[in-house]
Amino acid sequence: MDLAPTPEMRALRTEVRSWLEANLPWAYGEGLPPRFATLEEEVAFGRDWQRRLAEAGWVGVTWPTAYGGRSLGPAANFVVQEELARARAPELVGRIGINLAGPTLLAHGTETQKARWLPAVLPARELWCQLFSEPDAGSDLASVRTSARPADGGWELRGTKVWTSYAQFADWGICLARTDPDAPRHRGLSFFVVDMHAPGVEVRPLVQVTGEAEFNEVVLDGVAVPDDQLIGEPGQGWAVAGSTLSHERGVNPRQLVIHLQHLEELLRTAATTGAFDDERLRRRLAQAYVEVRLFQLHNWRSLSRLERGLEPGPEGSALKLYWSEMSKRLHALALDVLGPAAPLWQGAEDNPGDGSWQRAWLYYQASSIFAGTNEIQRNVLAERVLGLPRG
Ligand SMILES: Cc1cc2nc3c(=O)[nH]c(=O)nc-3n(C[C@H](O)[C@H](O)[C@H](O)COP(=O)(O)OP(=O)(O)OC[C@H]3O[C@@H](n4cnc5c(N)ncnc54)[C@H](O)[C@@H]3O)c2cc1C
Repeated sequence: MDLAPTPEMRALRTEVRSWLEANLPWAYGEGLPPRFATLEEEVAFGRDWQRRLAEAGWVGVTWPTAYGGRSLGPAANFVVQEELARARAPELVGRIGINLAGPTLLAHGTETQKARWLPAVLPARELWCQLFSEPDAGSDLASVRTSARPADGGWELRGTKVWTSYAQFADWGICLARTDPDAPRHRGLSFFVVDMHAPGVEVRPLVQVTGEAEFNEVVLDGVAVPDDQLIGEPGQGWAVAGSTLSHERGVNPRQLVIHLQHLEELLRTAATTGAFDDERLRRRLAQAYVEVRLFQLHNWRSLSRLERGLEPGPEGSALKLYWSEMSKRLHALALDVLGPAAPLWQGAEDNPGDGSWQRAWLYYQASSIFAGTNEIQRNVLAERVLGLPRG
């Protein structure tokens, strides 16, 4: 593909960069976002930042203009994401709505459903969560047991979801539930939008190894879901959820932004800890630089498929596999760069990054689990790319 930017892309880059230079909540390009005392504070800050960014038209640029986007192509989205990385802008708190729920509703929702939910997504007026995984349905998602029984004017949902990121802040959840227990398992599922404030929804935070409780167990105890919150037809849930998952595993501007930022920050940190004087660390830093750059190029390659109107395809699995393993190496290197400060935590003296590297190392242990484990990605590549027999 031709990587030379078009005049339109160059103009877009200049425009978003100028906006960020004038509007970032701290000096352009300086340091990672501040640490917050609590997740609540971080989410409140994130909502305000996303609102301001959306008002300027820099959130969801590929979305139709009717719902707050700019109706631009995937390459334009990449340009914006790269500029956000360059500026060290904060991550978007409404990312599940922007990247998963929104695109699923755009593809499968009725006009009424789109008009009802989509306008509140980009400015973070309403936040979303993903109610797919259950205690016995993760990799094997078709084993979902949460039931949806016909009830007056709609459905009654009963079951337990788990690992639901940001459920405690969410207004709505996209939910996979079983409407026909007698149908073959993939055909008995339906896709709902659940009001997270409805009676019967209980959100129980789960504390992670980082000490934060970003994800939750969600109990649905007879939750009434009106008929107009069913997405697609009853029994079509598997196909609708497939569309959500393809957005989760395909090209990944979000992880690209994070890793471009982390690489840059690591190189700055290495310059202060004397790591460049150690030949072994110097080599690994060079290797990390090459790997993040390769990740960027992998993304651009997938992007060229999207620009031609093709689906991401199984190469999305190669991308997920690559970035998650790269991420673990990058964050392990960061701890080696910290040297004797590696075991310290937030608030300790002489701890470059004030615990953010230690937290990132812990957090990215999960990168080979979320959005489909790496074993599952390998299965996809073996069966659908290499044509090996099914396991
Ligand atoms: C940080 C984080 C955030 C998450 N956020 C959400 C969220 O917001 N919403 C949501 O719905 N879910 C979320 N998840 C859940 C995530 O999608 C699941 O953890 C993941 O799909 C794996 O499922 P599981 O945990 O049940 O593991 P299991 O499926 O039980 O797998 C256990 C182990 O067995 C392996 N295994 C399973 N089947 C096979 C096979 N066929 N071949 C080879 N190996 C296999 C797996 O690779 C894994 O190593 C999140 C997870 C994490 C870690």
